[in-house]
Amino acid sequence: MNVGKKIKMAAIEKAVQAALAYLEKDPENNALKVMDLVDKFSPDGWYDSQRKLVREALESKGHWYQLVQAIYALDPGVRKAFFQNFMINASLKGSIMQNETSEKYNCNSPWAILMDPTSACNLRCKGCWAAEYGYQLNLTLEDIDSIIRQGKELGCYMYIYTGGEPLVRKKDLIKICEMHPDCEFLSFTNGTLIDEEFCQEMLRVKNFVPAISVEGFEDANDSRRGQGVYEKVMHACELLKEHKLPFGHSICYTSVNYKDVTSEKFFDQMIDKGALFAWYFHYMPVGKGAVPELLLSPEQRTEVLRSLRHFRNTKPIFALDFQNDGQYVGGCIAGGRRYLHINAKGACEPCVFIHYSDINIHDASLLDVLRSPLFQAYHDNQPFNHNHLRPCPMLENPEKIVQLVKETGAVNTDYQNQEDVEELVSKTIPYAEKWAPVADELWKELARPKDLVDYNGR
Ligand code: SF4
Repeated sequence: MNVGKKIKMAAIEKAVQAALAYLEKDPENNALKVMDLVDKFSPDGWYDSQRKLVREALESKGHWYQLVQAIYALDPGVRKAFFQNFMINASLKGSIMQNETSEKYNCNSPWAILMDPTSACNLRCKGCWAAEYGYQLNLTLEDIDSIIRQGKELGCYMYIYTGGEPLVRKKDLIKICEMHPDCEFLSFTNGTLIDEEFCQEMLRVKNFVPAISVEGFEDANDSRRGQGVYEKVMHACELLKEHKLPFGHSICYTSVNYKDVTSEKFFDQMIDKGALFAWYFHYMPVGKGAVPELLLSPEQRTEVLRSLRHFRNTKPIFALDFQNDGQYVGGCIAGGRRYLHINAKGACEPCVFIHYSDINIHDASLLDVLRSPLFQAYHDNQPFNHNHLRPCPMLENPEKIVQLVKETGAVNTDYQNQEDVEELVSKTIPYAEKWAPVADELWKELARPKDLVDYNGR
């Protein structure tokens, strides 16, 4: 970052910290006063509609206001670390550095890096490979530390663990939090290894947030994950709430569970248990055993889209629907555009759902990864579709993933049974064909003017 930018950045950081400290004193009364200041000093046209929305939410004391109240009921040290690491380091400071890397090397530069610390898991869920594959594959503590050090050089302060079950390595993950107190760590987890001792550790390090997977209500959850798992998950939520620790849920929706997991009852239960966010993922038929029958019909996907948008606008929980919210992030965010994935073998994949790679972090620097042919091809081809309800090169534009993999010579990274890209897309082509006309109609209805600027109907 050049000197001028550094000075400007330091001034913005100080102003944000002062505003947060003022809010901390009396969030209920000071929030509107902070908004008055933001409005007074913001240039004309700067996030006008968003600022208007925030003001309305605060004035009406609606669901966003209640969510802010829930954030201010958290442990103050954890909240402070979250604001500093997530808002200032990862988003404000980080995005400037990410843009600089991107411009300098003509490649993507990520906001977040997903890693699999291990392929191991303590559960034996139906259809999941992790239990059989055992404890053989791990990123070492040194590997993870090195990735984060390199990431910070490029402006990445947000790290997300997936797996396997990341908390099988919970002691190492806590050590990493201590080694990088300026980063925010989020972990997808089945929740069953969260106990009193781990809550105390989270309170101590302050920068670790769990995203607990749920599949639906008790029967649906336990029929896949095993008897008693749902109860353990609910117990983990209670422990986290009791310790004033932030957490959320991750939910994979399929043709079987979509009604349950997008119902009002499900939302109310998550809120009641203390979840602050809910990340929804569309089922992806990736891997040899993955069945296309779990893919949603266009009508089912439309229903999910409408329900989640409705509850996002009415319930005090931050719900994100990754496959249907592309318009807020310009389509596909993978290939380092906003994030990338490194599996437990070190293979670097554009996305956690795209199991193809042409480079391994054990043989290359993070910058080399971003400049590898596959990542460069992502960079050069995004967005894969100008209708952001059809963002994915695998699910909605399957011809694209075939092209990317073949042109770059990327290989399948599945730990057990390698899946040829043609075999993969044989499951998504019929889906993409059925979804396209429905998505194009929906896009006419839902796209905002700025989304349509370069929409050519592809
Ligand atoms: S590759 Fe597909 S699933 Fe992955 S981020 Fe892009 S659109 Fe989403």
